[in-house]
Amino acid sequence: MDYFNYKSSKLFAEDVSIDSIAQQVGTPCYIYSKATMLEHLRKIQAAYAELDTTVCYSIKACGNTNILKILAQAGSGFDVVSGGELFRAAEAGADMKKIVYAGVGKTDVEIIAALKAGIGYFNIESEEELENIIRLAKQQNIKTKAALRVNPDVDPKTHKYITTGKKESKFGVDIERAQKVFADFADNGFVELCAIHLHLGSGGKTIDPYCEAIKKTLPLIETLRKQGHKIEMLDLGGGYGADYETGYAPSAADYAAGIVPLLKGKDLKLILEPGKSIIANAGIMLTKVLYRKQSGQKKFAIVDAGMNDLIRPCLYQAFHFIWPVSVEEKFSHIKRTEKLDINGLEFIDVVGPICEGSDFFAQDRAMPPVKGGDYLAIFTAGAYGFTMASNYNARPLAAEVLVDGGEFSVIRKRQSLEDMVALER
Ligand SMILES: *Cc1c(COP(=O)(O)O)cnc(C)c1O
Repeated sequence: MDYFNYKSSKLFAEDVSIDSIAQQVGTPCYIYSKATMLEHLRKIQAAYAELDTTVCYSIKACGNTNILKILAQAGSGFDVVSGGELFRAAEAGADMKKIVYAGVGKTDVEIIAALKAGIGYFNIESEEELENIIRLAKQQNIKTKAALRVNPDVDPKTHKYITTGKKESKFGVDIERAQKVFADFADNGFVELCAIHLHLGSGGKTIDPYCEAIKKTLPLIETLRKQGHKIEMLDLGGGYGADYETGYAPSAADYAAGIVPLLKGKDLKLILEPGKSIIANAGIMLTKVLYRKQSGQKKFAIVDAGMNDLIRPCLYQAFHFIWPVSVEEKFSHIKRTEKLDINGLEFIDVVGPICEGSDFFAQDRAMPPVKGGDYLAIFTAGAYGFTMASNYNARPLAAEVLVDGGEFSVIRKRQSLEDMVALER
């Protein structure tokens, strides 16, 4: 679901024409729709309203401070995985009590910053890390709370690089070891170990792994409580599917329909850490066709965005629907799906300018014919788009634009060549 729609034959973000952004901001750029991100956030908040739920948006999906500000104002907390993300959250005016901090390699500097900020929970990934946080909390004389990240050994059946909840993963501790961690560390006076954290991985397209993980975790919580430990919160992590191909991912309500009944009456606060299910659909990447080229039977559109701007197709073999910003009327109501079989489309590869064979956005993709100078929208690019961008090939980072109704603003300027080398002077 998003507010990027064709009005007759032109693509709009809410009430702003994409052409007008292209002309004023240039390409490549990311364009976000405020209404879209808020609608996704609100749907999640509403779906879990029966439980005492805090949505902690995962900053690593898209961390522009202007976007964080909007989400914070709508009641979102944040899931951070570094001191840098904690800094971004603070910059956006986040409620520090609604911050959870995960990550297997937290440094002393990062831990002390989070202690001083007064975050809600540290999500603990290992015994050594917990020992270190206890040591630093004592040293700083600051009390805090922590959730133990438990590895429920379920497979979300997603790409292997984004599967994190299986037993042989580097994240968390397995269920058997969890009891021992509570026994060894619960009584330390500074870090109150009072919650369980799960995160199965990203991009799962079914609800079952979540239900399975909860069913494996509830007996652990019961056992821990019997042993005298207070368990006040369950953090279910993120990874809820975003709709990269229309109708493909369960909705927030679908997930909640499976999850909420399992947790009702269990006297647990719930934290959710959605990233892409809030922001993926809320962003597009806008790029311009530079050249057309044909090699043998293969047709190419060479565009001005590259894998340095949006790496998901290259890194995860991710599908992104791509469509021209201006199309003939008959092409303006196409379903955003991978397989299109319509007269008048042409099969082309959409590739970037970078000196790597993996620099493509789509291969053999059916699209209306395009020529040099045409703009293309790469949809569902809001999550893990700009945040994974780099200066590879000495390409300055793209601009980011936020649309709100009939207005738009540049929320991150295009990096200049001067900016790019400034730290080297
Ligand atoms: C990446 C991550 C998330 C967010 O994942 P999405 O797939 O974007 O929802 C949430 N929690 C943790 C701990 C993460 O590492």
